[in-house]
Amino acid sequence: MGMTRRGFLQLTGAALMSSVMYEFAGQSPALAVGTAQGWKLIDVKETSTICCYCSGGCGTIVSVRGGKLINIEGDPDHPVNRGGMCSKGSSQFAVNSIYNDKTGESEINPNRLTKPMVRRAGKSEWEVLSWEQTIDEIAKRVKKTRDENYEAKDDKGVTVNRCEAIASFGAAALDNEEGYALQKLCRGLGMTYIEHQARI
Ligand code: SF4
Repeated sequence: MGMTRRGFLQLTGAALMSSVMYEFAGQSPALAVGTAQGWKLIDVKETSTICCYCSGGCGTIVSVRGGKLINIEGDPDHPVNRGGMCSKGSSQFAVNSIYNDKTGESEINPNRLTKPMVRRAGKSEWEVLSWEQTIDEIAKRVKKTRDENYEAKDDKGVTVNRCEAIASFGAAALDNEEGYALQKLCRGLGMTYIEHQARI
């Protein structure tokens, strides 16, 4: 089918307008997040950091205004994720804040744990501990368990220097440096059951 010069210009003009309208439509949700103070990300201090959830290490931009968290989103300049984030990383905002259904404003997430807690054997209540108490209790238990279960040699007389009564299960949030330090600690204690959630 032939096309005149006028027809070609009309067609490309219509395509261009459709594209522009699509772009505007795509931006409309962003336009809707303005707050009473103006645009959502106006007057914020931006800091680039790393997603807290897994050792994938996706880059994020954290926006804060007056000490209050305003937004967390993928960093388009980061070489790992180029601005994209998985569903878990995209929910990081909720680690700190939630939106109040009634006011529509964000507030500190009341479910966020900020202190160590323990539920003792036979108890149904959780007890809040200080960090010092927590570290002391863990250290005492690790020492007791290791002392009681350490094997220098196995039943064939082979030197093994191990403690099979303690296991370590690291979460995906462990990064390289934390994983290295944890591995040194575990091997130093003679542990053999050392596991990690991520396979990266
Ligand atoms: S949890 Fe998701 S967004 Fe966060 S570092 Fe891992 S892959 Fe990236």
